[in-house]
Amino acid sequence: MAHQFECTQQDCDFMVRANDENEVVDVVQEHAREKHGMSMERNDIQGAIRQR
Ligand SMILES: [Zn+2]
Repeated sequence: MAHQFECTQQDCDFMVRANDENEVVDVVQEHAREKHGMSMERNDIQGAIRQR
């Protein structure tokens, strides 16, 4: 089962999908910091991850 996260920021179509949840969290934290200048907590990201 894959873990998928879609960025919900306006005008952002970033999406990441991986089998490893930790990998998704790492990529999302980096994306949020570099593209949006915000830091996201691991718990927040995990709460937004969908399992497909
Ligand atoms: Zn984004």
